[in-house]
Amino acid sequence: MYANPISDDELLAKLRAKYDRTVPGHCPHCGTAVTVDEHKGGYPLPWSCPVGLKALQDARAQGADEPTLEAAQAHWQASRWEDYRRVGDRRVMELIERYEQLRAQVGTPATPADASATPVA
Ligand SMILES: [Zn+2]
Repeated sequence: MYANPISDDELLAKLRAKYDRTVPGHCPHCGTAVTVDEHKGGYPLPWSCPVGLKALQDARAQGADEPTLEAAQAHWQASRWEDYRRVGDRRVMELIERYEQLRAQVGTPATPADASATPVA
């Protein structure tokens, strides 16, 4: 008996949710893929639209007028997103993959009559 009474599928789903890599979304303003902003390490990871960030930085550097600054600020803010998850772990995902391959092999044995292919419960 396992120490944890949840099903294999539940366990796999929980592990995937924790260890799969974050898939960055797209900026709702311009559709550009968001990227991780410069940060000082640690969590959460700040993501935002690189186009919006550049526009905002340029507007500030050029001393742009208030409407231009506000538009750039709004673009960047709309795309901002903080990821509180820890980064993924490819080794865990690889293990899940290997486990599922094994399970698929065991679940559909080539010769069902062969008792040696049946796992002992
Ligand atoms: Zn954008």
